[in-house]
Amino acid sequence: QVRVRFAPSPTGPLHIGGVRTALFNYLFAKKNGGTFYLRIEDTDQNRFVPGAEAYIMEALEWLGIAPDETIGKNEKFGPYRQSERKAIYQKYADQLIASGWAYYAFDTPEDLDAQRKADEKEGKTFIYNHTNREKLDTSLVLTPEQLAKRLEKAEPYVIRFKTPVEQTLHLQDIIRGDVKFETSLLDDKVLFKSDGMPTYHLANIVDDHLMETTHVIRGEEWLPSLPLHVLLYQAFGWETPEFAHLPLILKPVGNGKLSKRDGDKLGFPVFPLEWKTDQGIATGYRENGFFPETVINFLALLGWNDGTDKELFSLEELVASFDLKRVHKAGAKFDPEKNKWFNHQYLMLQSDEALAKAFSPILSEKNIETSQYNLVRIVSLIKERSHFVSEFWDSSDFFFQAPTQYDAKATKNWKEETPDLMLQLIHVLEPIDDFTATNLETIVKDWMQNNQIGMGKIMQPFRLSLVGALKGPHLFDIAELIGKTETINRIHKAIN
Ligand code: GLU
Repeated sequence: QVRVRFAPSPTGPLHIGGVRTALFNYLFAKKNGGTFYLRIEDTDQNRFVPGAEAYIMEALEWLGIAPDETIGKNEKFGPYRQSERKAIYQKYADQLIASGWAYYAFDTPEDLDAQRKADEKEGKTFIYNHTNREKLDTSLVLTPEQLAKRLEKAEPYVIRFKTPVEQTLHLQDIIRGDVKFETSLLDDKVLFKSDGMPTYHLANIVDDHLMETTHVIRGEEWLPSLPLHVLLYQAFGWETPEFAHLPLILKPVGNGKLSKRDGDKLGFPVFPLEWKTDQGIATGYRENGFFPETVINFLALLGWNDGTDKELFSLEELVASFDLKRVHKAGAKFDPEKNKWFNHQYLMLQSDEALAKAFSPILSEKNIETSQYNLVRIVSLIKERSHFVSEFWDSSDFFFQAPTQYDAKATKNWKEETPDLMLQLIHVLEPIDDFTATNLETIVKDWMQNNQIGMGKIMQPFRLSLVGALKGPHLFDIAELIGKTETINRIHKAIN
C-alpha cells in the first residue's frame, strides 16, 4: 500500500515549488492506488506564520489535489500537526540516547565560538562532529552521575545525533539512482532541544515511520539531509522508505533557483493564491485569472514528461501516465509566457456558457446589461485571442458601448469620399430585415461589387465606425450583435 505525504512547514504562503512537490506526491499516490496525506511540520515555533496552514489547505483544494488524510479528515494516523505530537518525539529521542546513537550537548554559543576559533587557528573549518564532539561540553565525556546531576539542574541542552565515522553510504534515489555520502563529512545534527521540541529531522523521521510512509518525494534541497535520515532509520531499526528528490525549479532567465521573492519582481506570480500581509500583497495564480487546470498542467511539466511531445494533460491523464522514473535530475526552467499559453488552451476548452458566466461579474461591475444569448456569442467571438477572462472586456467593449474615440493611425483610411460612401452604406443597411451576419455580408458585398467599390474603401471605415479601431472579430458578426439601429447610429456618429 503506497502512502506518501506532503509535509510543509507553515512559514508563509506555499510557493509554486511546494505545490509541485504536493502534486507529484498526489500523482504518485493516485497512480498506485495509494494514499496522499498532508502533515503540518510546525515544530519551529519561531518561524510559524498564522494563516499559512489554512492557505496550504485552500491552495490544494483549489487545485483539486486535496489530501486523503489530514487535520480534520480521516485522521487515521493523527494528529497531523507536529506541534500536537510533542510527547511522541521525546520518547524517541530518549531511545536514541539509550542506544548510544545520540548524546546530550550542553555547550553554549561561547563554547562553540571558542572551538571554532581554535580550529581556524589550525587551518581547519569547524564542524560539529567526531572531530570535536569529545572536546566540547557533551555527555560523551561525562560520567552517568555527572550527567544526571546536570539534567536535574535543568541546564539547557540539545540532543545531537552521533554520526558514525568513516562510513561510505551508498543510497538509492528513484530519480538520481546511486548517491554516495561520506559520513565523516556530516555534522552531528541537533535532533531535540531542551524546550521539549524536536527538530525537523527527528520529527520528520518519526512521523514518516509512524504514519507508514512508503515513499518520500520532496525537493532537491533536502538531498543533503538524506544520509542523516537513512542513518536515523537504521538507528531506530526501522524500515527505510524509498526516496525521490525532485529537481529544482529555475528562474526564467539565468540558472538561479526560482525564489519566493522573484514573483512580483519578475512580473508573474510564484504563489497559487494571493497572500496579503502588512508588507503588501504577493499575487497568486488564482487571482490572476489562471484556471486550476492550467497550474496543474504547467507544474506537472516542471521536471517531468510522458516521453512524447504531449503538453496538455488533464489531472486524470497525469495520474494515468505519471511515473517517478521519468522525472529528470536537471533543474526545470520556469516559463511564465508558456504558462499563459497553457491558460489560453484551457480557456478554449471551456464552454462558451461557462466563459460567459465568468465574464458576467466584470460586466455587472460596469453596469452593463446584455442578453445571455448575446453574451455567449460575444465570448465565442473573442476567446480565440484571449489568455484570460480578465482580457475579455478590452477585446469586447465595443459590443456594449459605441466608441468614443477613433484610433488616429487608422483614420488615414478615412478619405474625402468616405462620408459619402458611408451614407450609401447606411442606405444599403436600412432596408435589411434579416440583420444576421451572413445575410449582411452577402448584401454589402454584392452592393460593393455591383458598384465596383473596393473592399478597403468600405470595410475599414465601417470597422472604424463600429469599433473605433481596426481590431476585433468579423465585422458582420459585430454588426449583427449590436443590431441595425446601433450599427447605423455608429456610422452616423463617425461621419459627423
Ligand atoms: N517540512 C519540510 C518542508 O518544509 C519537509 C521536507 C520533507 O519533505 O522531508 O519542506
